[in-house]
Amino acid sequence: MTQKDSPPATDFIREIIEEDLKTNKHGGRVATRFPPEPNGYLHIGHAKSICLNFGIAAQYHGTCNLRMDDTDPSGESLEYVESIIQDVRWLGFDWQDRLFYASDYFEQLYEFAIQLIKKGKAYVCSLSADEIREYRGTLTEPGKESPYRNRSVEENLDLFSRMRAGEFEDGAHVLRAKIDMASPNITMRDPILYRIKRAHHYRTGTRWCIYPMYDFAHCLSDSIEKVTHSICTLEFENNRPLYDWILDQLDVDCHPQQIEFARLNLSYTILSKRRLIELVRKGYVTGWDDPRMPTIAGMRRRGYTPEAIRNFCVRIGVAKNENTVDMSLLEHCVREDLNERAPRVMAVLRPLRLIIDNYPEGQVEEIECPNHPQNPDMGSRRLPFSKVLYIEQDDFLEKPPKKYYRLAPGREVRLRYAYIVKCVGVVKDEKTGEVKEVHCTCDPETRNGPLPDGHKVEGVIHWVSADHSVPAEVRLYDRLFRVPDPTAERDDFTKYLNPRSLETLASCRVESGLKGAAPGSRYQFERLGYFCVDAKDSSSNKLVFNRIVSLRDSWAKIANQQQKNE
Ligand code: ATP
Ligand code: MG
Repeated sequence: MTQKDSPPATDFIREIIEEDLKTNKHGGRVATRFPPEPNGYLHIGHAKSICLNFGIAAQYHGTCNLRMDDTDPSGESLEYVESIIQDVRWLGFDWQDRLFYASDYFEQLYEFAIQLIKKGKAYVCSLSADEIREYRGTLTEPGKESPYRNRSVEENLDLFSRMRAGEFEDGAHVLRAKIDMASPNITMRDPILYRIKRAHHYRTGTRWCIYPMYDFAHCLSDSIEKVTHSICTLEFENNRPLYDWILDQLDVDCHPQQIEFARLNLSYTILSKRRLIELVRKGYVTGWDDPRMPTIAGMRRRGYTPEAIRNFCVRIGVAKNENTVDMSLLEHCVREDLNERAPRVMAVLRPLRLIIDNYPEGQVEEIECPNHPQNPDMGSRRLPFSKVLYIEQDDFLEKPPKKYYRLAPGREVRLRYAYIVKCVGVVKDEKTGEVKEVHCTCDPETRNGPLPDGHKVEGVIHWVSADHSVPAEVRLYDRLFRVPDPTAERDDFTKYLNPRSLETLASCRVESGLKGAAPGSRYQFERLGYFCVDAKDSSSNKLVFNRIVSLRDSWAKIANQQQKNE
């Protein structure tokens, strides 16, 4: 973490850890892990868990492992593993030499299962999946014991080894823990520990045809790695007794403590791998790294900084009750970070020609522009100023409303860091009536200096020189969904995608210094927002920018307006 990061506030998990340190519960050790399943890309919800686990390890001089929780072959792949590694590293965290794979523990986990069978704590059950479900009972009714529950240890050992050897069809048998079919906690009603599944595993290939279930693999993987605090999200609260039961039955020298916290929910987007996969597969977005995606890869490409994301995670804190965080808080963190570090440049997104009639043809002046008006350390650059400029189309109106402080016939405006100009006429397209050119005169005494007496100009607009600027494509991104909670109704969440989440402007003009800007470089386009050079589509031949975030929270304005109208 950098020094810029806000210090983490304390929370109930840190309180537990501090108490454990006081009582020397784990011999003064703090060991956490971040255990993603490589079946999709990481999203901002995972970032919360990453910041929490790695942040705690750093704060208490402990360690945090990165573990691929890859015990279910379907949907897992090396591409996902690589993306996870890249994303956690990009967020600024380091697991040193502790990158682990649960699939590396398959043999050990199998041995643990044998131990359970030998203790009479697990049995091979030959009910079908439907029957197992039926026998499980409900929240109000106890379950029914499987007729296979009392198989002998020998028979169980024999069947389990033959399950491994591939003698049976998928689904013919499962290995179950022998706990309590009447437990009020359904998770404890003889949960399945192993199933037969003939599927190719991206690391172990076809070596295994039985795979451990999450509940069995997770606690034991934590224990093998000598994790002290196994931090997970609230939906695993009911699994904690099983986590503890398995470790209590087995001969292990480390029994980590599972602690649950509330997962991050974020408005105007979705944080579920399953649904994100659907967006990618069905082509609603261009890929996992589409800049509208809530994935780390998408946010990186969009131009979000790791610092902004880490600060966001500190600000939202960690608690035990579910809530939804407003997207504008994340955007605020991004803006706050970029405001300090992004150099200012001028870019015109929808160009309109402005011609200064009294400015000499062929003359070019170099205008000194600060790279950051509040931070002189960031230096300055010289921008060419000439007779023909581009301004933003919406900085000129033929019939302006009262409080319009930009350019209009007969009105004056300051060109940022340069002259005050006065509009003296327009040239229109004969057919469409569209304004093609704005003609102005400029007052040579006003170049970036104090105004001559009595000269008051309220508006300042940005510009680039027509001949000296370079073309660029700019992609204006907006929120992926048009409603705060796209999954609130049971219907298809893709119905709520924001049709205006991407607007591509193909004929923008940017100052020439941006030519050759490194992929991923971030700038503030004066008056417009923060933009970054797209790392994928930008090249030396074609500049492509992504809008990271606008300068102000336009959604808050819309929401306020809506409230007023109601
Ligand atoms: P999803 O629910 O999106 O499919 P997952 O929880 O199945 O995700 P994992 O790869 O198992 O994905 O997650 C790795 C870790 O990240 C887990 O410890 C999980 O609790 C945590 N995590 C996942 N989603 C969130 C979230 N929205 N907020 C906080 N932590 C999360
Ligand atoms: Mg999971």
